[in-house]
Amino acid sequence: MTAVKNVLISGASIAGPALAHWLGRRGIRAVLVEKAPSRRTGGYAIDLRGAAVDVAERMGVLERVRAMKTGIEGGAMVDADGRVLAGFGADLVAAEDRSIEILRGDLVQLLHEAAPDAEYRYGTSIAAIDDRGDHVLASFGTGAPAERFDLVVGADGLHSNTRALAFGPERPYRRFLQSYVSIASVPNRLGLDGEARLFNTPGRVAALYNTPRAEGAKALLLHRAAAESDVDQRSPEEQREHLREVFTGMGWETDRILADLDGASDFYFDSVTQISMGAWSKGRITLLGDAGYCPSPMSGQGSSLAIVGAYVLAAELALQSDVRPALAAYERRMRPYAAANQAIAAPGLDFIAPKSAFAIKARNALLKSGPILRFLSRFDSKLAKAAEAINLDRR
Ligand SMILES: Cc1cc2nc3c(=O)[nH]c(=O)nc-3n(C[C@H](O)[C@H](O)[C@H](O)COP(=O)(O)OP(=O)(O)OC[C@H]3O[C@@H](n4cnc5c(N)ncnc54)[C@H](O)[C@@H]3O)c2cc1C
Repeated sequence: MTAVKNVLISGASIAGPALAHWLGRRGIRAVLVEKAPSRRTGGYAIDLRGAAVDVAERMGVLERVRAMKTGIEGGAMVDADGRVLAGFGADLVAAEDRSIEILRGDLVQLLHEAAPDAEYRYGTSIAAIDDRGDHVLASFGTGAPAERFDLVVGADGLHSNTRALAFGPERPYRRFLQSYVSIASVPNRLGLDGEARLFNTPGRVAALYNTPRAEGAKALLLHRAAAESDVDQRSPEEQREHLREVFTGMGWETDRILADLDGASDFYFDSVTQISMGAWSKGRITLLGDAGYCPSPMSGQGSSLAIVGAYVLAAELALQSDVRPALAAYERRMRPYAAANQAIAAPGLDFIAPKSAFAIKARNALLKSGPILRFLSRFDSKLAKAAEAINLDRR
């Protein structure tokens, strides 16, 4: 029934290959362009939760996802000397069968393998898109003639190139959540074994975790900032300098983490930002995942939104005889779900980086108070509900 036979997808991380899987199952050609020179491996731990677990099952990859889970069994909040203040289990935010933690690189590999018919072009970006009404012409800045597609999907993340080409600069769509986050692979100096440690001072958190699936440890530094600056646009060396200014002398392992950041090959730094747009589609161009509705790492739901969004978009393309009503239906079905998951970012931030010494103590007391009180806590119940807030079959 679908009029779509040939789709160009920008970005081959989570949203892109997930969409390619569903298009491939319906005999639709998918071309993915990815600016990285090859498939990106490694990365931090992410979660598949709620409806995304159901989509993984429908894709036939759920058992593999479960087999790849990080194996992080829980962790603890510690004081400046590393003494445990409060422990937590892996079931902190969702029941085990509705939440699976997996390394981003493992998930990307698995999704690529689940879309074997797609064509992947690495080291390439879309240079220009020309929507001609009944098709789109896309060129790649290679000097080769523009290619014709029925649909262009921007699955190219928070700083989406497709969004910039179709909707203009990022600024009006950014919602800064008053914090900056950094993550990097570092030596496992604490000898952590499938566990996490978090140390807070007001508005700052330093964390380390180890998963049996990867060498070493991951370090995360997050700090609140009342006003947005240009630090996320600066060079990695300037960003490390910024982190030294904010975190030096904080206590616990923080100074060693700062020193280890210098040698980290996968140093990541960005503002904690959501993307909020009045429309995700324009003609034959649409946005998927972080590109259109990034909920920010503080929601812990970005990967799930990307996977569920890919499922809904492909389903609507298959059901409708024209692209525009399909894109309208995709937005109609996904918007409440995206909004619900964006809404949990603020309580997520309050949970991981409480603003005051009192709030840190209250959070730790809650963690110590047992599963029932934890379940009733604002963050836990909101997250679990938001993760389920879409009916995959409702029309
Ligand atoms: C520190 C951190 C922790 C997180 N924790 C969690 C968590 O616990 N749970 C969770 O669900 N999510 C988490 N997330 C969010 C999650 O990683 C994202 O929401 C998810 O990766 C979104 O997938 P995506 O495919 O839409 O975009 P991305 O994964 O960002 O992928 C975009 C892809 O597009 C490519 N690209 C970019 N520009 C271009 C271009 N010009 N041309 C071609 N390709 C391009 C990029 O190289 C990349 O491969 C976290 C994110 C961060 C940064």
